[in-house]
Amino acid sequence: AKSAGRRTVIFFDERMQRQADKRLKMNNDLRNALNNQELMLYFQPQHLVSKGSLIGAEALVRWKPEGKNIVSPDQFIPMAEESDLIIDIGMWVLDQSFMYMAKWQEMGLTLPELSVNVSAKQFHHPDFVEQVEEIMNRYSLETARFNLEITESVVLGHAEETVRKMEQLKEAGLRFTIDDFGAGYSSLSYLKKLPVDELKIDRSFICNIPRDTRDMAIVEAVLAIARHLGYTVTAEGVETPQQLEFLRKQECSFYQGYLASKPLPADAMARYIAKYQKQ
Ligand code: C2E
Ligand code: CA
Ligand code: CA
Ligand code: CA
Repeated sequence: AKSAGRRTVIFFDERMQRQADKRLKMNNDLRNALNNQELMLYFQPQHLVSKGSLIGAEALVRWKPEGKNIVSPDQFIPMAEESDLIIDIGMWVLDQSFMYMAKWQEMGLTLPELSVNVSAKQFHHPDFVEQVEEIMNRYSLETARFNLEITESVVLGHAEETVRKMEQLKEAGLRFTIDDFGAGYSSLSYLKKLPVDELKIDRSFICNIPRDTRDMAIVEAVLAIARHLGYTVTAEGVETPQQLEFLRKQECSFYQGYLASKPLPADAMARYIAKYQKQ
């Protein structure tokens, strides 16, 4: 039993070592990804629930290492958050977001709004507000067309700093969405303090509609709170006509999800905007 125990320990050590090596390699590769132009932005369209018109999109980052398949952000964003890489990646994403909006505008394509994800570590970096302002100044675009998506974890333990930074950026015209609302450390007292414009209901509350009547009750309640506090609401992960019909009855403002479109590469997004502009 003793020797078996030792063998197990050795086996475990080797496996852990291999995992650590793999992570280190992925981290180095990701560090180079920015310079090697292996990161790309995709765009998922957002629509008005009531009329179906195109009202915006969410920018979602993708990583395509040379000669390999696309890596999902669920795999590399958490890793980037552990190092300081998320700060460079996040700023690259924001810069590219402005760049595409300017480019489409020049092509005569108007996407009313673009939502951009901002991670907690990026938000709390001391230079965050300055860096965002620098990007905004570089492109002559109406800042109110940009929405920063933050999650409730941003507020955790940093309530005052968060409110201060949000107010500074709102002063400059940006808008804020609470992403994945209800899925994290929700506290209604945060909501009361934060200068928020929009709530985004997490996919986990949408995906089992209409089977799960409890999820339906939660979505109804979130919509009621948002209505009273004057926020618009986006539902994410809408996949079926029944889900959209439910949201229409409940007077939810916006939605995104595979029912309308998967996230698209930039050129396909340009065609998507053009198609809706003609209608
Ligand atoms: P998220 O912000 O909640 O983004 C929504 C995710 O749901 C996206 O996954 C999107 O492709 C997926 N999705 C959209 N509609 C549907 C649907 O109808 N059904 C299903 N099953 N899924 C749908 P994605 O692009 O893989 O992104 C995953 C997460 O990675 C994002 O979740 C976000 O937290 C993070 N992320 C992505 N891009 C960035 C970025 O630029 N910066 C930061 N900080 N995080 C990012
Ligand atoms: Ca998001
Ligand atoms: Ca989300
Ligand atoms: Ca989500």
